[in-house]
Amino acid sequence: MEILPKRIYEILKDKGVSSILHANSVENSSLFLRNRCLMSREYIEKLGVQKTTPKSSHSGNNYSIRNDIFADSIDIHKSANSAHEHGPVLLELDIEIIRNTFTGKVWVTKSNPMKWDSNTHHERKWFVSANDLAHNFSYGSFDHMVVFRHCAGKLPLLSHLNRIILDDPKLHTDQHQVDYFSMAYGALKLAMREGGFDVPIEKRACNKGCECLNNYKEGIIDPDKMFNL
Ligand SMILES: [Zn+2]
Repeated sequence: MEILPKRIYEILKDKGVSSILHANSVENSSLFLRNRCLMSREYIEKLGVQKTTPKSSHSGNNYSIRNDIFADSIDIHKSANSAHEHGPVLLELDIEIIRNTFTGKVWVTKSNPMKWDSNTHHERKWFVSANDLAHNFSYGSFDHMVVFRHCAGKLPLLSHLNRIILDDPKLHTDQHQVDYFSMAYGALKLAMREGGFDVPIEKRACNKGCECLNNYKEGIIDPDKMFNL
């Protein structure tokens, strides 16, 4: 059973969700900004513009969701004290985007798709009713993701982009010793100009004890892939 986007919006807002957050690589985020929309992994692949393939937890055995667009309701980097595996760019969208999604459907996962297999029942994957969502959605859970489905792989950003938070891995490229953060900042600024956006890009301020610098330094999150243009 599908839940009306308006109800999802009301319930999530009631639970304390104020923003919808999408993390991605610099390359993909720049593509989104230039085109004024988020895009599914499948859509990006079809465009054939992607030089690198950032790791995705939503691919592989879950083909049916490969053309959907996933977002978090919390800042995973901040909550997990580690770099987001999908990329160093966090696009912060106004929660209003949920009820202004004219082209598609909004669903909320009950468990992270990484945990799904062919035997996982629909009711364990997704919230199935407004009642279910109202009772069991927990603000702060990494499992509960907002998914824009059946949108043909594109979600217009309209005026819902509020700001961009960018990680600073404090590293330089091997070849030309260029600072990753500055390079990414410049690319995002340019992409915003081309897309007609003008929102602040903030350097991420991490909690004490955040592991992200180690994640990048040790290559657990590959800075070359994630900051590649
Ligand atoms: Zn950090």
